[in-house]
Amino acid sequence: MRTAPTILHLDMDAFFASVEQASKPSLRGKAVVVGGLGPRGVVATASYEARVFGVHSAMPMGQARRLAPNAAYLVPRFNFYRSISERVMELLRALSPLVEPLSLDEAFVDLEAGGVAWDERSARLAGVKLRADIRAVTGLTGSVGLAASKMLAKIASEEAKPDGLVVIEPGTERAMLAPMSVRTLPGVGPATGDHLRRAGITTVEEIVEAGEDELVRLLGKAHGHGLHAMALARDDRPVVAERETKSVSVEDTYDVDIHDRTRVGLEVQRLAERCVRRLRGAGLSGRTIVLKVRRYDFSTLTRSETLRGPTDDPGVIREAAARLLDSVDTTGGVRLLGVGVSGLADYTQEDLFAQAAGERAVAEGPVEEHAVAAAEEQPSLAERRWPAGHDVRHAEFGHGWVQGSGLGRVTVRFETPDSEPGRVRTFRVDDPDLEAADPLPLVLRGTEGGDEAPGTAAQAVSSVPASLPKSWSGSGGGAATSRP
Ligand SMILES: [Mg+2]
Repeated sequence: MRTAPTILHLDMDAFFASVEQASKPSLRGKAVVVGGLGPRGVVATASYEARVFGVHSAMPMGQARRLAPNAAYLVPRFNFYRSISERVMELLRALSPLVEPLSLDEAFVDLEAGGVAWDERSARLAGVKLRADIRAVTGLTGSVGLAASKMLAKIASEEAKPDGLVVIEPGTERAMLAPMSVRTLPGVGPATGDHLRRAGITTVEEIVEAGEDELVRLLGKAHGHGLHAMALARDDRPVVAERETKSVSVEDTYDVDIHDRTRVGLEVQRLAERCVRRLRGAGLSGRTIVLKVRRYDFSTLTRSETLRGPTDDPGVIREAAARLLDSVDTTGGVRLLGVGVSGLADYTQEDLFAQAAGERAVAEGPVEEHAVAAAEEQPSLAERRWPAGHDVRHAEFGHGWVQGSGLGRVTVRFETPDSEPGRVRTFRVDDPDLEAADPLPLVLRGTEGGDEAPGTAAQAVSSVPASLPKSWSGSGGGAATSRP
């Protein structure tokens, strides 16, 4: 493991909900819940104001509505979130060639590989500047964790939330992790957490004390071994830029999240077989089996296992994929699964991805989350036409957003990101003066020509009160899991 905190983890704060609050002045400082509004809908993101009422990601919408009846309930605008995400990712790629996105609003960056940081001081400076740049370019806040490994950088950003920066100094990891909840460690979701608790293990220190053999007995080989290493703060996983990964893989996105664990297992087996067919079709074999799981909240996990030698044996690859699945918590539901084989020989045909492009699912490509979201919304005609939270333009009243619709009526609030909170008006759903509109930018960009006008950016930065990075305080307390 490296000796300086030069792995950065960025996590935007309550991303979807923050975008909505930035877009809609009347919702700033208010409880906002973004998610599927259909009968099986779950919360994708709750604003911090909504979390006060106990609303959190993955919670069924009905439950959220009971806890926070007065919150604004909005249908996600994934294309808009993605466009903002791209601008954030651009800022990250300016820091290093090694950027590993985990979801639209979360990524690891290897600062050392980018030559922008080599010790604690330079890493901290890079983190402070990044946060200011994100604020200037998107108008939103993101939290930054800096540490010597991916696991610790992610724990640090969780501690930093909201709108903060935390550095975990190398040498302090073990003491810091010891009192934390087992749920802090990657791969420990509610199910694994319960399993460990029944065995009397609730803190990271208790994992260390239980020992590796006991962990393997409780959780199986791959998960038990991995978790024990994580508890000792041993994590050598490199930051991997997606485009560098040479692999053959297949993935499927599901219209409705899969909750049934047996069904998840069957899907993984099916994907493993499809992956082998493609591998063999290309005359290849590979050493590393990769499982990709995107969960209900768009967080994406990858797990991999490297074999002694390359294989294209369906049995071996199926078994490896099943073992990897054992280490993944799928409570809350799964919306995408993928199986891949990497570590291919150098004679890999160059154009595997192009070959695969005609097929239904291609790994490494952009996943169309908005298609999933659209499928989630149940087809009441009025709702389908005027989803809550989406942008509209009225010939007379200008730009606004749908506050609600039903019984042949649609209620629109007329406001823009830089206006005062606006007024509400109600129309017939078939009003010819009302049409769907594109979202307005959250931050006015400089003059046309591509780059930010330097004056604009500098002004935006200086108008933000300088937030001093918090240092790691040494206090414990399990990090709350909040995403995205
Ligand atoms: Mg986030």
